[in-house]
Formats: sequence, C-alpha cells, structure tokens
Amino acid sequence: MSDSPDLVRDPVCEMRVRSGQHEAAHEGSRYAFCSLQCRERFLARPRLYVGVRRRPAPKEAGKKLIRRRRVLLGHPLAQAQAAALIAALREMMGVIDVECVEAPIVRGPSSRPARGEPQSPAGIGGIEITYDLLEATMAQLERRIAEVGGRFGNGIGAKLGRDFIHYVEECELEDLESSAAPAARAR
Ligand SMILES: [Zn+2]
Repeated sequence: MSDSPDLVRDPVCEMRVRSGQHEAAHEGSRYAFCSLQCRERFLARPRLYVGVRRRPAPKEAGKKLIRRRRVLLGHPLAQAQAAALIAALREMMGVIDVECVEAPIVRGPSSRPARGEPQSPAGIGGIEITYDLLEATMAQLERRIAEVGGRFGNGIGAKLGRDFIHYVEECELEDLESSAAPAARAR
C-alpha cells in the first residue's frame, strides 16, 4: 500500500494538492485547492481555469495577467511590521514581488533639517506588489494586508481609488472569462 496521498492539480495555481483539500464542486466535477484564496478565485469565475467543450480555459492555455500596483498605507509602518506584512503577502499565491515604498520625511513648511538630524525616512508608507491577477486580486491582497495589521488611508479619495481598482480588475476578469467561453454566458 502506498502512503503517498492522492494528489490532484489545483486549477488556479497549478500546484499539486491533496485530493479533497478545500474542495469545491463545479458542473459535476470536484476540484481541490491549496488555499481558500485559490478556491475563492475559482468559484468567482471557474471558466478562467477549466475549459468548456475541449476549449482550454485561459489558465490552461498559460495566460497570465501580471499587474504591478502601489498600495499606500494610512499610517507608516516600522521596519519590523513592514517585514511581517511583506512576508505574509509573499506567501500568497500569485504574488511575484513585494517592495517597500518609503514614507516621505515630514518637515515643517520652511524648515531645513537640523545639523545632525538623521535623514532616514519616516517608515514604510506603502508597498508595491507585482502579482498575477488570475491568482490574486487586489481585493484579496488588501484583505491580507488588513489581517496582518496594515491600515489604509480613510480619506474618501483613497477609498474610491481602491474601489475603482477592484472594479477595473473585475471587468478585466469578466472580459477574459466571456471571451474564453462565449456560449456559456447569456448576453
Ligand atoms: Zn492554489
């Protein structure tokens, strides 16, 4: 008897995962996922990941939607907090790179730095994330940032900016999904 578990392919990130893990059913087939993140992506738009009538889905055809976005935080993070945040994001599926954006040094209107004043930045004011939109959306990335203690600006402009990005991403995914399986959607 083999003690190696029954492995299947996660259709979103294409990792080998245990059969039955984070399972979801779709049109009579069962799929397993490495994470709830991949399961959520699949259930939102399964046609991006599994083809219909022998036509490969975008993911199966090797499609990637690489995006690079800057997320500004409402409150700068100290180096240790920023390191924890970056580590958490790098563990997410679809995240290719995460870089820090230093917060600007805040000074009075006309003040020049005093002699000997350190020129270090005020902390980490944001991060720049490179990711594959087929595996991670900005909404998912922001949720993870909030879980590990990152806080976003509360200004209406910042909020609208984030909502707009979420909307744009959903439109892109919807366009790709409907071009992949035109007959599957009523128009
Ligand atoms: Zn996965």
